[in-house]
Amino acid sequence: MRFILIALIVLGMYYQAKGQAFVTPFELMNGQESATYFEAIDYFRKLDRKYESIDIQKAGPTDTDYPLHVVYYSGDGKFDIDQWKKKNKLIILINNGIHPGEPDGIDASMMLLRDAAMGKLKVPNNVVLAVIPVFNIGGALNRGGYSRANQNGPKEYGFRGNAQNLDLNRDFIKMDAKETQTLVQLFHRVDPDVFIDNHVSNGADYQHVMTLLSVNPKKQGYHMGSYLEKKFEPAIYADMKKRGYDLVPYVNHWGETPDKGWPQFYEPPRFTSGFASLFRIFSFVPETHMLKPYKQRVESTYALMQSFIMYSGKHAEEIKSARKMEASVVAEKKELVIDWKVDTINHSEIEFKGYEPKYKPSKVSGQKRLYYDRDKPYTKTIPFYNKFLPAASAKVPEAYIIQQGWQKVIERLHWNNVEMQKLDRDTVMDLTVYRITNYETGPKPYESHYLHTKVQYTKRKEKVRLLKGDYIIPAGQPAKRFLVETLEPDAPDAFFAWGFFDAILQEKEYFSDYVFEDEAADLLQKDPFLKKLFEDRKRSDAAFAKDGKAQLDFIYKHSPYYEVEHMRYPVFRIE
Ligand SMILES: [Zn+2]
Repeated sequence: MRFILIALIVLGMYYQAKGQAFVTPFELMNGQESATYFEAIDYFRKLDRKYESIDIQKAGPTDTDYPLHVVYYSGDGKFDIDQWKKKNKLIILINNGIHPGEPDGIDASMMLLRDAAMGKLKVPNNVVLAVIPVFNIGGALNRGGYSRANQNGPKEYGFRGNAQNLDLNRDFIKMDAKETQTLVQLFHRVDPDVFIDNHVSNGADYQHVMTLLSVNPKKQGYHMGSYLEKKFEPAIYADMKKRGYDLVPYVNHWGETPDKGWPQFYEPPRFTSGFASLFRIFSFVPETHMLKPYKQRVESTYALMQSFIMYSGKHAEEIKSARKMEASVVAEKKELVIDWKVDTINHSEIEFKGYEPKYKPSKVSGQKRLYYDRDKPYTKTIPFYNKFLPAASAKVPEAYIIQQGWQKVIERLHWNNVEMQKLDRDTVMDLTVYRITNYETGPKPYESHYLHTKVQYTKRKEKVRLLKGDYIIPAGQPAKRFLVETLEPDAPDAFFAWGFFDAILQEKEYFSDYVFEDEAADLLQKDPFLKKLFEDRKRSDAAFAKDGKAQLDFIYKHSPYYEVEHMRYPVFRIE
């Protein structure tokens, strides 16, 4: 009995000491396990109670019953974002667990914030941190040990899909998930200078523990892009080398193996980093290598975040001035790129540490299968295709006009801090109008939408009837790039592509053939121009010439009876 009592006291002292030292579940289990959602939040609450420099707050709702939390670190214990801006603090926003099966950042951030609070990690005085401990809560709660078939630990982790089974790293334009809506609003409130979204990669085997996906310099911007390419990124690579990690760009290889090089991964705005770059935020996606042991992966994630923190503190003025200059350059632009493609000729060269790819018969099929021989490491200089070329651009209008009924789009513009003015009376305006003439739609849903691609349109000046309450959106505002990339209908991540304007693609009224026959004949007789169009079409199209129904439809579509709304894109341009 006495022995049990002593044992209990010792155990109690142990747990108390552990609590004081803020040992994380990852550390306690020697790098084999990852904190659960509840453990992570509880940990930060305790850290907040003990340390002035830590503050955990609720950021807003998610698709689960639990709110999204954000943990702030501020060395002086002050957490007023407006004051941070006034004092010119450099703000780093770190996102974790967007893919909860890739929890490296969750565990690394717990240790990082603890070490910062305890002073073990010296965060420069001019740097403040905003960390999302777990973004995809629904996915984190759906915990198991099998959904990442090839990954080397931890023992248990969450699932990629959120509570709506959405991949949240495709959700940043359509914003279907409440956690995305919350994070986007937080993005604009915090307006970070640097954004880091922690992940784990899939794919080939190689020696590198940590790979880094930076936004392409061209896409990152005119000033920010060259600063990123010439200074920021090389400094991070050099610093990580000192910390014992050979960084390599995210391995996005074309062929079966990466030894012939690869194109830089392109992130359109549906991705966190593609989205953040539209708002002039230096955006990075660390991707640890899934085949490396969990402990090493978490440690390298910690090291990389530390590297970003130290660099950003030292070069805060440069980072901020690149952002400011970028804003003034974009403000002047009359035309903006809305899509990019990889230049397949011009490229950079990088040093890649791989393993020799080999082939042997498969034990399953007997056919030839690929494997990487870890006894045959190599270091090779390989091509890295990171020179992007514009694939499509759009002229920037003076302003866009959107009719009030398109509430889902208007809501998303509001969440993105877009400035809009409501018309104060009904009016008719001469506007540039797009009419959709063609598009393709995928046969299967993509992230809960039937995505449209290859959008074609005609563009002409028309008189448009507008109502009091319709919105004018001046293009000359901080959200300029975001507006152009979401409101130009042929942009790959436009609201049109995501199906927000699908209702215009269907006619609401039509005609009865037998009644319209006489009216159609009348119209042809009264309108020589229409008659000529009609005859030309018959001459050039044999099938049309034989198809009475198609001919009636043609005349209907060229008559005043045809509804103007059909195929008319409901976002207009003031040029
Ligand atoms: Zn991921």
